[in-house]
Amino acid sequence: MSILKRVTRDGQRIIFNARNESSALMQNENESYTFDAAGRLVGVFYDEKNYRRSLDNQILEKARGAAHTLRSRQRRMLTTDEIQALETRAYEFARALPARLAEPLPPEFADALARIGTYSFARLQAERAAFRKLYHPVSILPPDQYLALYLQATEGCSYNECAFCGLYRDRRFHAKTIAEFRKHLAGVRAFFGAGITLRRSIFLGDANALILPQPQLIEMFDAVNAEFEIMPRGLTSAARREWQAARSVWFDGIYSFIDAFTTKRKTTQTFAALAERGLRRVYIGLESGAASLLKFLGKPSQPEDVRALTTQLKKGGVAVGIIILIGAGGKEYDASHVRETIRLVNALSLSQDDLIYFSELVDYPDSTYTALAQNAGIHALTPADMERQQQEMRAGFQFAAAPNAPKISHYDVREFLY
Ligand code: SF4
Repeated sequence: MSILKRVTRDGQRIIFNARNESSALMQNENESYTFDAAGRLVGVFYDEKNYRRSLDNQILEKARGAAHTLRSRQRRMLTTDEIQALETRAYEFARALPARLAEPLPPEFADALARIGTYSFARLQAERAAFRKLYHPVSILPPDQYLALYLQATEGCSYNECAFCGLYRDRRFHAKTIAEFRKHLAGVRAFFGAGITLRRSIFLGDANALILPQPQLIEMFDAVNAEFEIMPRGLTSAARREWQAARSVWFDGIYSFIDAFTTKRKTTQTFAALAERGLRRVYIGLESGAASLLKFLGKPSQPEDVRALTTQLKKGGVAVGIIILIGAGGKEYDASHVRETIRLVNALSLSQDDLIYFSELVDYPDSTYTALAQNAGIHALTPADMERQQQEMRAGFQFAAAPNAPKISHYDVREFLY
């Protein structure tokens, strides 16, 4: 990583951060532009607002709300005219920079600017079509995987009927053949180009790719390993640093969603074989430890299924990310949701490689939850109730002392963009 600090002829302080995986240009700490190694705009901070760009050239604007909390944050998607204005501003800022400085830029910074200079609003718009040819919409990822390299082994959800979830209602479930998947891998590598270095993990989508029969999964994992280098398990910190420094494109592992009701035939050996091929963590939508609430939500798993699945995964060497749906079932299920979720989570023997996410119920346009809740006379939790529900769960969780405890974090599906 190289950092350059300069003052422009008109007295503005510039910090230029040039790294293998991205470049960031900052002016006076209140304006910054981040680009991937190919030159694509990734993010902007300007006028007290954060902007994140997706690979199909959408931009999400995030501004702080009155309460400085995740929930009060203001979010909106920019219009095409606003996207054009913001991207033009970013690229003009980068292009104009050398002329604003008294001394020439050192070569590595000039090279980074040259790569950025190959992009523009028009090129980013044109890439949108290529992205949409390569991917069906990437509907969701866990927050720690937002920057993963997404590989679409399957499309959609094989179940697609949970009342609170509208993520994949617009498509039929489809599993790629191994030939289709290999073509997809080659297409993904070509699409990302030098920008692939921003991605340090691989996410195998969509909702339940691990549902595929084991021989097909093994073939797919082998194909991923043939195309991309996955860091071996069990390296010491020093060996890990050495391994990473020896290559510019590398991934720390493969990640995926899994559900507890379509994977009952998977065994510890199944997961161990995938772990050998790079599977490091899977994300399970537990939603709740209360069986009656799962039934109400139309989720066909039992809490016990999640416990059995987690045991097999961990014995097979795969960590878990447990997702809890805060606010589900409103006031009527509040007490049982808290009590039974605490009971189940405490039975999972989670440790430092595992994660727990609190995800607040969001009413998707296509979700059937609202109608269901109305018919059942459910009273929705207020934001304060949802906060209290999370705090009660946290207070009830019993883990080994830090640093061996799992990390607990928030998962706001409204912040997702790929
Ligand atoms: S919550 Fe998961 S299993 Fe249920 S419909 Fe959505 S993606 Fe499918």
